This record gives sequence, structure tokens and C-alpha cells, in this order.
Amino acid sequence: MLILLTNDDGIHSAGLQALADRFKSLGRVVVVAPDRERSAIGHALTLHAPLRAEEICKDCWAVSGTPTDAVSLGICSLLQEPPDLVVSGINKGGNMGDDLTYSGTVAAAMEATLMGVPAIAVSLAAKSFSYDDFSDASGVAMQLATTVLDHGLPADTFININVPARKPLGIRLTRQGKRVYEDAVVENVDPRGRSYYWIGAGELGFQDLDGTDFHAVNNGYVSVTPLHLDLTNYAAMDRLRQWQLEEITLDSADTPLASDPTGSSS
Ligand code: MN
Repeated sequence: MLILLTNDDGIHSAGLQALADRFKSLGRVVVVAPDRERSAIGHALTLHAPLRAEEICKDCWAVSGTPTDAVSLGICSLLQEPPDLVVSGINKGGNMGDDLTYSGTVAAAMEATLMGVPAIAVSLAAKSFSYDDFSDASGVAMQLATTVLDHGLPADTFININVPARKPLGIRLTRQGKRVYEDAVVENVDPRGRSYYWIGAGELGFQDLDGTDFHAVNNGYVSVTPLHLDLTNYAAMDRLRQWQLEEITLDSADTPLASDPTGSSS
């Protein structure tokens, strides 16, 4: 068994170390992760700069890019054979609801899925992140990883796991919940009198809806959500069909752009 581990908190994160220690009993564990914290980088891919990968210890590679870069390099270059599973995490903090599109942890699992490798993303919805704090979450990750390996995942699907800060009461199969982004930007004044802004510093809320990831974790359960990369809103198709978009004749060819009043061509 060959397991590729990655994360978005950086190669020195205690959550990644806890995963590596736990998964050793399953087979060969190779860590390929960003050389520093890259949280909230989403599915960013480095296209316009060279990437470096340094083997800082045996089977442990620090990559000068994003979590997505790390998975690409791991699967395409650093490993001689495709891994049986990619595990991303354990993230310092939950990845639930609308936050998923920002998450580098989730994006790494997405990238593996795009490359045809089964993947899980694991996050600890806590406020304290010492090595010991990741003990329960790494055990949960291990149990769910063996379940995934036993059953196989549906096509183009990966699973997003969120573990509560307390000892988990059990597992809940969930759907993606809904964030409430109040006070998302905090404005303050620096010592020189200029305004500065800080995103994500406030306490964020969520809608406590039954069946969601937030609801499960808030009630002490491990949340397991199957995700795929198809962002199509199928339920909205019928509404948009009523717009008869496909009947519209495009008139763009008859209406050239007004000339640029500044005279600049950029
Ligand atoms: Mn992170």
C-alpha cells in the first residue's frame, strides 16, 4: 500500500505529522507538502514559476508551491507509481460549508481526484492544534481511509471529513452547509494612521441546518461529505430554461465597442 500525504498548513504542521505516524501501519507513507503554510490558497496551481521539491527526510518532500502543486508533483514526478490513496490534512480548523472553495486542504484532494487517485480531506474543527490534539482525528482518518480502500469511491468523488474538537460521538453522512460571513473584513488603523484591512479575523457563523457538515460537527459528530468537482447547479437548469437563452440572437457583431476615450490600448 502506498499512501501520499499532503496538506495546506505546511510540511512542519503537527496535523500532517500525526497523519504520517498513524498511516505508517498501513504501508509506505510519502509526504509531499508545501514548504510553508498555504491555507486558503484554494485550488491554485503555479504556472509561471519553477517549482522545487526538497527531500528533507526519507519519503518527505517540501515543495515550494501550493497544495495542488504538491499533489501534481507527487503523483507525476516524485513517486514511481501512483499512490493507492491521497490524504490531505489534518487541517488546523474545519473546512465546511462555503469555506470549501477557499480550502487548500480540500483542493489537494480535488487534484488527486482529477488525476484518478482516491482521496480524502481531513480537518479538525478545533481552536487548539498541538500534536496531541490531532490524536482522535488521525484515528478517524485512518478508519475512514481503510473504509475507502475497502469499498472504493464513486467516480469523480472524494470525501471531506471534519472532526469535532471533542471525542467524537460517531459519524454522520452530511451535505455541505451554509456559512454566515458577517464581519468578514475587519478595518483598523496602523501606527502611521493608514487604514488596513484583515479578512477572516472575526468569528464566523453558520446556519445550523439539519443534515449539514456544520450541524454534525457542532453536535459532536464526525462529518463525512461526498464531494465532486461538477459545480453545475442542476436544480437551476429548469429556471434558466425558461429564459430561452438558446433562442436569443446574438447582436454583438453589429455593436462594436465604443472607442477608448483615454486613447490607451491596454
Ligand atoms: Mn490550513
